[in-house]
Amino acid sequence: MSIVIKNLTHIYNPKSPFETKALDNINLEIDKGEFIGLIGHTGSGKSTFIQHLNGLLKPTSGKIFINGLDITSKDVSLKEIRQKVGLVFQYAEYQLFEETVAKDIAFGPKNLGLSEEEIEKRVKESMEMVGLNYEVLKDRSPFELSGGQKRRVAIAGILAMKPEILILDEPTAGLDPKGRDEILGQIKRLHEKYKITIILVSHSMEDIAKLVDRLIVMYRGKIVMNGTPREI
Ligand code: ATP
Ligand code: MG
Repeated sequence: MSIVIKNLTHIYNPKSPFETKALDNINLEIDKGEFIGLIGHTGSGKSTFIQHLNGLLKPTSGKIFINGLDITSKDVSLKEIRQKVGLVFQYAEYQLFEETVAKDIAFGPKNLGLSEEEIEKRVKESMEMVGLNYEVLKDRSPFELSGGQKRRVAIAGILAMKPEILILDEPTAGLDPKGRDEILGQIKRLHEKYKITIILVSHSMEDIAKLVDRLIVMYRGKIVMNGTPREI
């Protein structure tokens, strides 16, 4: 078992007029290597949920175990969680700020204190994983790339941390149909080839039903459906 979530509840602004129960007693298990599609209307709690898996938010109540380790515990550092669980934010390309593609991808691994050699190896590997040509693109400015390419650079930056679990929040948001197919195709290949556990957040069932092993549907902070695309 890769991820076990027990009675996870999150309340924003508790005991105030703005109190919002964004997650309401979520229970879920995800196996190693599974490809999960997480869908639900706007405001249903998808982003809140995945931010807990990445340690960015702490639960109001409940626990999350990643390979048996309780990441909600005070003793587990954010750095430790980030090496296990990589989160690609919606519009992640806006977080690219270095002058070259290679430097942008190296940003995460650099913070891990790895050798220059290991960092370059990881940049190369992670670019290959998302179908970007290292030799052609490494010294290019990320700002000159297409929307789909920029987003792939952002995904490569997360992959360069070698996470066991990859979470993508609406990776196709704002892309044209060509960019969307490019990204979804790349994510599918990533799963097939490297067997990484993937959680893909989307508004649209159609976009992802063909790709994933399992669909999880959220509504008002609860999981209301959980099954194979065929079942749902
Ligand atoms: P979308 O599809 O629009 O991205 P979502 O499913 O990701 O939506 P969340 O962003 O998790 O939904 O929001 C769940 C609920 O929590 C909503 O009611 C939202 O208004 C509220 N919420 C989200 N973030 C915050 C925050 N930082 N402070 C207060 N309330 C928040
Ligand atoms: Mg969201």
